[in-house]
Amino acid sequence: MEHEPDIAQTAHYTDKRPFVSKQVLEKICETYPTPFHLYDEAAIRKNACAVHEAFAWNPGFMEYFAVKANPNPALIRILAEEGCGLDCSSETELMIAQASGIEGSKIMFSSNDTPAQDFVLARRLGAIINFDDITHIPFFESVAGPVQKTVSCRFNPGGLFRLATGIMGSPGDSKYGMTEPQLFEAFRMLKDRGAETFGIHAFLASNTTSDEYYPALARTLFELAVRLKNKTGCKIGFINLSGGVGVPYQPEETPANIAAIGKGVQQAYEEVLVPAGMDDVAIYSEMGRFMLAPYGCLVTRAIHEKHIYKDYIGVDANACNLMRPAMYGAYHHLSVVGQPGGPDKTCLEPDHVYDVVGNLCENNDKFAIDRALPQVEIGDLIVIHDTGAHGHAMGYNYNGRLRSAEVLLKEDGTTQLIRRAERADDYFSTLDVLPAGQTLIQMATQQHS
Ligand SMILES: *Cc1c(COP(=O)(O)O)cnc(C)c1O
Repeated sequence: MEHEPDIAQTAHYTDKRPFVSKQVLEKICETYPTPFHLYDEAAIRKNACAVHEAFAWNPGFMEYFAVKANPNPALIRILAEEGCGLDCSSETELMIAQASGIEGSKIMFSSNDTPAQDFVLARRLGAIINFDDITHIPFFESVAGPVQKTVSCRFNPGGLFRLATGIMGSPGDSKYGMTEPQLFEAFRMLKDRGAETFGIHAFLASNTTSDEYYPALARTLFELAVRLKNKTGCKIGFINLSGGVGVPYQPEETPANIAAIGKGVQQAYEEVLVPAGMDDVAIYSEMGRFMLAPYGCLVTRAIHEKHIYKDYIGVDANACNLMRPAMYGAYHHLSVVGQPGGPDKTCLEPDHVYDVVGNLCENNDKFAIDRALPQVEIGDLIVIHDTGAHGHAMGYNYNGRLRSAEVLLKEDGTTQLIRRAERADDYFSTLDVLPAGQTLIQMATQQHS
């Protein structure tokens, strides 16, 4: 079966193609009703291999996949098989790790504003705790017990984070991490409490496809690590570059080059850490988006067209299935695939302009605004690209809309339902305030009879 990964996007509109052919997609849609998220196992594995190759120069390297980007256990299993650990930030994400057989130092617990029970489970699973704030150290001790031998602290340098190409983020406005004086103090506190190996973490820019981001962040953290080691005598075991490596949502964007990123980090390592006698520091990452976003798509179908002051295409998905356009105004590329049995529209000229919308009673429920597309007809399959990370994961239930299924296209070309679509009884299942033994569905049915 033909499902080329969509790694090498180039400039032309039609070059950003779905990772499945029309024929394969139609077959999949015979089994699974739209809408659903579809994931490409072969491409996920290939990309994970490329990440590990890029950092193979660092024997301790570990990618802790950020569970929040996509908490589906079937995908987590694939990434774990490729050597990834997990970055969790909540009790239920820790439970997913536990259920996936991932424990101990294969879990990074990078939380913030952390509830007590989250720290308790993280401690029980032996996760590496990445403290977001200095006050969390006594809080952790009071709720979860003594700090572990390996610990980490999150750094926030404040101000603006700049690269040669411009401002990448504004850490001064972000709620995460500690100031540098707090970080020194936290390391001393943790050392006094028996910690032996220390890590430093920072997340300073989101979704950047610049190959300069990780190397610049690494250099900042390496220099900080040298100062920390010299002033506190703490053993720095790892530097966690966290997430933020982006993907080209726009067809004309250049993808991040992970091999070049790995080389850039290596150069900073050799220039800063090695001369300081710190040549055994492990590099960690917590990428979510880069690991999965391009290898998932939302498959939907045009069910209405409407022509008023603009031309609208109504699809059977909505922002509850993919929130990024509504929440951030994010661009997601669309491919009109066409009717079952009809011509393949993915290569047609985009000679119409549409807003492609969902059915929420919210005017921001638009997957595309003023988007040039080939003519869309009712019944056409439409692929919304790059939904493998922060797609289904951000789903919600506004308007009583139900979250979609998730389907895995396996390496052998077969498919597997890895999460069924929500049903009405899932949506009503938390209403245990109803009269004993009654469900809302039963009550609704009784009203009718
Ligand atoms: C969101 C998040 C990540 C993953 O970010 P991506 O941009 O998806 O790579 C990693 N670490 C932490 C602490 C996060 O909050």
